[in-house]
Parts: sequence; C-alpha cells; structure tokens
Amino acid sequence: MTGRRRFSGDTLVIASHNPGKLREIADLLAPYKVHIVSAGELGLPEPEETGDTFTANAELKALASARGANLPALADDSGLAVDALDGVPGIYSARWAGAKKDFNHAMEKVWRAVEDKGAEPPIRARFVSVLSLAWPDGHVESFEGIVEGRLTWPPRGGYGFGYDPMFIPEEEVMNGRLRTFGELLPEEKHAISHRARAFKLLIDACFG
Ligand code: IMP
Repeated sequence: MTGRRRFSGDTLVIASHNPGKLREIADLLAPYKVHIVSAGELGLPEPEETGDTFTANAELKALASARGANLPALADDSGLAVDALDGVPGIYSARWAGAKKDFNHAMEKVWRAVEDKGAEPPIRARFVSVLSLAWPDGHVESFEGIVEGRLTWPPRGGYGFGYDPMFIPEEEVMNGRLRTFGELLPEEKHAISHRARAFKLLIDACFG
C-alpha cells in the first residue's frame, strides 16, 4: 500500500506557461484520455518560484493552480544540473535564459562557466524533473525522474526546447550515435527523458 491519492476527475490543469513543457506533457498524457487545460488558458498567474528544490517549486506551482482553478493540477519543475558547476544552473535553469527566454544565451552561459572551471570532457550533467499533482484541498503527490548525460559544444538539433541541443543522454553514448536531445525525435526523447521517467512514476501511482 503506497497511500497515494489517485486522480479521478476528467479535467486536469497543467500548471505551466512553458510551451515546450506543455507540448511534452500533453504528448505524455495523450493515452490517458484526460481533458487538459493550461494555467495560461485559465488566466492563472505564474507564481514566483521561491523554493530551493525542484520538489518545493513543483509543489508550489501545482498547488497555486489547483487552488486557483479549483481543479487538480499538474506542475513540472525541472532543470539541467552540471557536475562541474556543482549542480548549477539547476533550479535556476529557466532564469538563466533571462526575461527574453533566450536559450542560446543560456547555453552559452553554461558552456562559458564550464570552460572557466577548466573542466575536462566528458562534462557530466543530468536533467531532473519533478512532477507534482495537487488538489484544491492542499493534498500533493510528487515524483522525480532523472536522465544522465554529458554536455557538448556547439549545440546541435532543432527538436525539443531549452538546453536540449547541448545535452547528449547516456543512452546515445552507449549506442555510439552521440545525438543530442535536440536531434532526437520527440518519441525518442520521450522514451528516456527525465520528464517521461517522472511521468511513469506518476501514472503508476495516480492514474490508470
Ligand atoms: P522551470 O521548471 O519552469 O523552472 O524551468 C525549467 C527549465 O529547465 C526550462 O525552461 C529549461 O530551460 C530547462 N529544462 C527542463 N527540462 C528540459 C528539457 O527536457 N530539455 C531542455 N531543457 C529543459
């Protein structure tokens, strides 16, 4: 017995204003016949991410939308953690892109920081995703997924979003193809991504 609360409604709010994440979450939820509506469509504000962990931020976003919409809400807090930078940018991954959400700039900033450290390849890094499902009464369930990998420069590939073009997952190191997340088809990324791994835990515990 896990004591997990299961999702039993038919509408779920996705507590994100990030189009890349919304697309991936919609893809991952597609088999479960859940009607989804985004926080943006409902006019819900983006809360300030005041937590100092992925879990704290995912929970505060999910709870803010669940209470604002009076419906269950799902949030993802995620980011790229680079070993040579002691886990930075981590929970600040979105903020490194600045107000203009310029991820070319954010990727350059990461690569420059790695070079400044004098780190030698392989530049180990991981993507982390915490998915939190919250209800209007304040109950929340959270699940973490991780994909290990390494950074490459210059960035490659036009799929995905955010830091995808500079991240090679370990699975691509193992198969010798060395494609970045930005070069994987969406379904290939979904087979191994941090978000998909957190998603599997969420589905097993709360859906189906
Ligand atoms: P937040 O969770 O909204 O604070 O933002 C997470 C940030 O981490 C995103 O804006 C991206 O920069 C980065 N990130 C999270 N997941 C991914 C991914 O799957 N690919 C590339 N970047 C990601």
